[in-house]
Amino acid sequence: MSVLTPSTIDEVLAHLAERPEALLLSGGTDVMVEINMAHRKAPAEVVALRRVEQLRLWRHNPSSEGTGGTVTIGSGLPYAEMEHGPLAELFPALAEAARTVGSPQIRAAGTLGGNLGTCSPAGDGLPVLFALDAIVHLRSIGGQRDVPVADFMVGVKQNVLEPGELVTGVTMPIRHGWQGYSKVGVRNAMVIATASACLAMDRDRGAVTLALGAVGTTIIRCRDAEGWLAGELDLSAEPLDISDAVAQEFGRRAAADARPIDDHRSTAAYRGHAVGVLSSRLLRRAAA
Ligand SMILES: Cc1cc2nc3c(=O)[nH]c(=O)nc-3n(C[C@H](O)[C@H](O)[C@H](O)COP(=O)(O)OP(=O)(O)OC[C@H]3O[C@@H](n4cnc5c(N)ncnc54)[C@H](O)[C@@H]3O)c2cc1C
Repeated sequence: MSVLTPSTIDEVLAHLAERPEALLLSGGTDVMVEINMAHRKAPAEVVALRRVEQLRLWRHNPSSEGTGGTVTIGSGLPYAEMEHGPLAELFPALAEAARTVGSPQIRAAGTLGGNLGTCSPAGDGLPVLFALDAIVHLRSIGGQRDVPVADFMVGVKQNVLEPGELVTGVTMPIRHGWQGYSKVGVRNAMVIATASACLAMDRDRGAVTLALGAVGTTIIRCRDAEGWLAGELDLSAEPLDISDAVAQEFGRRAAADARPIDDHRSTAAYRGHAVGVLSSRLLRRAAA
């Protein structure tokens, strides 16, 4: 196996242009497990991304329109850097999701680029990207594509990444309003989600977004529950006034949008129930 260790995005793209089938390696926390478990053949060529500093940065893009602007997060920024500090203050839901990923060792290595590359419906970063309407930036030697995350993920472990393309990062709007992430699994730590949910409020637009993980072939945006809740809530109220009846109905509508299946981790019935409970609880937390 030959391992290339470029230090700039341009070098990565040049390598990929010559070897479009080469395997991209970020933290390796998915790839190495797949190779070790013989779920993936060891590739002839690997392009390792850890030394590409440009991929490990994030930046605030201020807006000229008086809104909070956007943030671009490099695909190689490890989860550990999202858990605390200024990025966590801008995206509390992302920080919560990052804190639930694996162990400290996994969070020191694992990245959003890898979560997007694998595209498991149980990936913890993905519901946050869906709820916050992230744009995924893809680059190849031929140019750049900016793809809404909902168009990027097209199935279980399937995305629109072409050979020769690299995910360079994601851009998300900074929203004024509460946001949170929650998941359940078979235990409380070091666990892949059985069901997960991300709720985000946008006080400026009077909108609410809810994305569910591990209950469908892709992450699911709950358009019905979102529209219904936006009509029920006064998003300008501090604190938000949310009755038990509203929280319960929101959970019921979220569960109705889920498309869970039975598999080795859980049953469809439990997943559907869990995602409703998670959505109601997130809403109660927003009010609290
Ligand atoms: C013990 C353990 C616990 C885990 N727990 C969790 C958990 O709780 N939640 C969770 O979501 N995940 C979990 N995972 C899975 C894994 O950590 C995450 O999916 C992580 O985000 C993968 O990132 P990575 O950088 O390690 O990806 P890698 O393993 O390097 O890559 C994964 C895939 O993405 C591709 N890829 C990587 N970077 C790019 C890029 N920039 N552009 C295009 N393609 C790219 C690779 O080619 C590969 O196909 C766990 C893994 C382990 C081993």
